[in-house]
Amino acid sequence: MRYSFFFAPTLKEAPKDVVFKSHEYLLRGGYIQQLGSGIYSFLPLGKRVFDKIKAIVKEEMDRAGAQEVMFGFITPASLWEQSGRLHKYGDELLRFHDRKNTEYVLGPTHEEAAVEMIKTFIKSYRQLPLNVYQIHLKFRDEMRPRFGLMRGREFVMKDAYSFHADYDDLMKEFNNMEQCYRKIFTRLGLDFRVVEADSGSIGGSGSKEFMVITPNGEDTLVICSQCDYAANIEAAKRKSSALSKNAPQAQFAKFKTPDITTIEMLCNFFHVDSYFTIKAVVKKGVFENGAVELVFFFIRGCDTLEETKALHVSGATQLLEVSNEEIESIGLFSGFIGPYAIKHITKSDKIFFDIDLRDSKNLICGANEKDYHFVGVNLADFEGIYYCDIASVKEGDLCMCCDGMLEHKKGIEVGHIFPLGQRYSKPLNASFLDENSQSKFFEMGCYGIGISRLLAVSVEQNCDEKGIIWNGNIAPFSIVLIVSNIKDYEQMEQAEYIYGDLLQHGIEVLFDDRNERFGVKMADFELMGIPFALIIGKGILKGCVEFIERKNATKTEVPLSEVIFHVKKHIDCSCSCVSSA
Ligand code: ATP
Ligand code: MG
Repeated sequence: MRYSFFFAPTLKEAPKDVVFKSHEYLLRGGYIQQLGSGIYSFLPLGKRVFDKIKAIVKEEMDRAGAQEVMFGFITPASLWEQSGRLHKYGDELLRFHDRKNTEYVLGPTHEEAAVEMIKTFIKSYRQLPLNVYQIHLKFRDEMRPRFGLMRGREFVMKDAYSFHADYDDLMKEFNNMEQCYRKIFTRLGLDFRVVEADSGSIGGSGSKEFMVITPNGEDTLVICSQCDYAANIEAAKRKSSALSKNAPQAQFAKFKTPDITTIEMLCNFFHVDSYFTIKAVVKKGVFENGAVELVFFFIRGCDTLEETKALHVSGATQLLEVSNEEIESIGLFSGFIGPYAIKHITKSDKIFFDIDLRDSKNLICGANEKDYHFVGVNLADFEGIYYCDIASVKEGDLCMCCDGMLEHKKGIEVGHIFPLGQRYSKPLNASFLDENSQSKFFEMGCYGIGISRLLAVSVEQNCDEKGIIWNGNIAPFSIVLIVSNIKDYEQMEQAEYIYGDLLQHGIEVLFDDRNERFGVKMADFELMGIPFALIIGKGILKGCVEFIERKNATKTEVPLSEVIFHVKKHIDCSCSCVSSA
């Protein structure tokens, strides 16, 4: 490709409101253009990278035995009604009516469409298992679309759906997909971890996420410093903390604690570690049937409530903040809420205690009376407490598997695999006949990869202060051929000759034949992130060109006779180094 014809408009300045490097460089490098909030167009450079990522994903999915199909982007809302998700999915689901007043949704995910396809054609266990996938558009009306392709509203996903006669077979495919995803992300050159995850609105349990580790990640991961345990904080577990800490021994008593409304103040007042205090977190739960109720969570003072876990145990679709006035309207006071008579006062059955508090002694908690706390509280004396896992795992907590110290890391989700079981086949009445001619619901799995997000993530993990550094497998071109001065006849002639030679050897080359200063051409090369450059300059007088590696900025003089050999050797290595990682 000759740059003088190529549609690759680069920008000098960073567009405003851009936080992530990946977002800045993809815009400035002429890869993408924002068309609307969370909606992007791909320019030729962006489309080339997108196609390469897509090709790697397709190759590995086909190799793993899945078959490519394509579902309609739009799904009839009636199918979502039947699966029970139409109202549950929330505001991310964009619904609309056609001229006949039939309701549709813009597909944020396609379990319903996949079940509809399979149940129509697959009738017998002999036709199973089957894994179908597509690489296609999704729409989610995200509350905060941001960071460019990282969190769009319209984006491209690879979504696969597998169907099985029994659960064992589903788990076999689940493991097969995990291996397939590991190969994909390795070929893409990403530093990733596979973590235990929360399944969100897709449903099921035991799902795993593929997380790319980067300090800018939106997700917090809990990782063991000693063993392989890794989980999204939304699903992370920890070992029950030891009760051997120096417990503040005290007889049960009520203390006047005027204006002591925070855990920190309470700890200072009684000179105790926050571990021995009980924190009450009150939320306003919105439930599927439209009801709105106060929900009470009790955790140790040193812990924080994990919102996703809290949503699950309470069964709410949303947990909203509560004002002091709302709390006072039921006879409680912020900062002084505790477990004593809480059921009686609130008449609520939505009261949850963190598992780490089970039967704990020597605690301090609110007395459900303004300006008073209790000390010497023993939870074993209480009846009917419902303990569950609702606290966030902190750094320094202990691993359930090996007692190792748990750490936090930031990550970006690039893939998610779910063993769904019969979550969709049952409500959508999708069944087959087993070997005893008995009708059974399909066991189902689903497997997603954010294809367009992968462009952003790859840049985020591979860039420097000058621009992108693509790895060879997904770079839009393998090399840029830069003519230092296009007015120099000999340089141009030599460059034309090398360009033809590179093309003949099947090398993807961008020939920078623009009438621009050398500095501009170099800056564009560095911003775009193409792995290598060949500079045709004054060196040709002594029969040499300069070969530059974008990654470490190394420069090598290469004799004209060895150019193709040298270039091919480096390109092959940059691709295979990633593939065999
Ligand atoms: P997140 O927690 O980031 O919102 P999710 O759990 O909603 O992700 P899934 O429903 O599992 O995502 O979708 C599969 C994949 O699609 C994700 O792993 C991610 O790579 C990608 N993805 C999800 N939402 C977006 C988005 N708004 N923009 C771009 N890619 C997305
Ligand atoms: Mg999401």
